[in-house]
Amino acid sequence: MIEVKSVNGNEKEVADILKKVLDDAGIQNEILTFGNNRANLVATLGKGRPVLAVSGHMDVVEVDKDNWETDPSELVEKDGMFYGRGVTDMKAGLAALVISMVELKEAGTPINGTIKLLATAGEEVGQPGAEKLTEQRYMKDVDALLIAEPSGYRCVYANKGELNITIDSKGQAAHSSMPKAGINAVEHLLHVLNNIETKVKQATDGIENEVLGDTVFNIDVIKGGNQINAIPAFAQAQINMRTIPEFTNAQLEDIFKEVIDEYNDQTDAQIDYSVTMNTIAITGKEDSSLIQLIQKIGKPYLQNQEMSDEEIKQAKKSAELTGLKFSKDEILTLGMSGGTDGSKFLIDQPNGFDYVMFGPGNDTMHKDNESLSKSMYFDYIDIYKKLFTEYLK
Ligand SMILES: [Zn+2]
Repeated sequence: MIEVKSVNGNEKEVADILKKVLDDAGIQNEILTFGNNRANLVATLGKGRPVLAVSGHMDVVEVDKDNWETDPSELVEKDGMFYGRGVTDMKAGLAALVISMVELKEAGTPINGTIKLLATAGEEVGQPGAEKLTEQRYMKDVDALLIAEPSGYRCVYANKGELNITIDSKGQAAHSSMPKAGINAVEHLLHVLNNIETKVKQATDGIENEVLGDTVFNIDVIKGGNQINAIPAFAQAQINMRTIPEFTNAQLEDIFKEVIDEYNDQTDAQIDYSVTMNTIAITGKEDSSLIQLIQKIGKPYLQNQEMSDEEIKQAKKSAELTGLKFSKDEILTLGMSGGTDGSKFLIDQPNGFDYVMFGPGNDTMHKDNESLSKSMYFDYIDIYKKLFTEYLK
């Protein structure tokens, strides 16, 4: 799986590998192709309700090979760690789900209900795979959703949404000694950005979600003009927002629309915007039976984890940096800024669903020398097997 370069594409090749393993074990599955070498895979073990959906994405992010100490397209094992692109985010989590299903099937473990595997394409860019599975009604009978994204020994039950908007400002070029002959695209863009930022901050001020915190608004990219003595005919800005259920993506987009329309009406500006990414915030139930089971089953694995004082210090520090908590004794429940396919799977039921993100991995996702502790990976296969059996007892 690590050898397949599935950077927002080629997920079909990962699905083929999973299909072979599932076929050999006699687990019912199908590949649902879309586009150029892209695919989702759905597999089911057991039958009837309740249905526990377990999910992982097959795509990874690009690598900068020069910064790696090993070949990122090869699974390398060194000092109790795995290295390779996707070991943490999240081919290991996906493999652990599949292996758990295969081992349960081979052992003939009775399952009172269904484990439904949803392996997706394109989670890293727009989540088209999860979106398609939801449209194709694969979520309709699902009672609980577990996503094996890297959380370490923690349960994430809420994720912020994300809204990315690009604003284009079209002007008219002119020599800068005659500004009246032109339309300054950069100045118009700056004014409109200023108005939008002020409005968004006013509208979201004091609105908070108790797990996820507040709305985040960042102007991350700005371009425009090409010469010091020419009135710029073009400017563009890209804005990234992290959203909460209390102030929705649609409400934010409305502010953009209103401010831009009003500004265009009152001036000679030609400003337009487009949404380039739109995923909603989701909040599950902190005390769901699924999370309680994970805490019970996972606790001994967390406590038996071999960690040096130095590693504990590092883990605490990196948890702090990402706004998360760390414990060596209890499986914590928390919310997180980053999103998952859950935003598309739960589009019709974003709040209060039995949802958890719980999978093997550390904070090296998307980074150079992405790694995963070997023992954590194998622990997770054990944990998943116990969890599936107990949840569907
Ligand atoms: Zn991921």
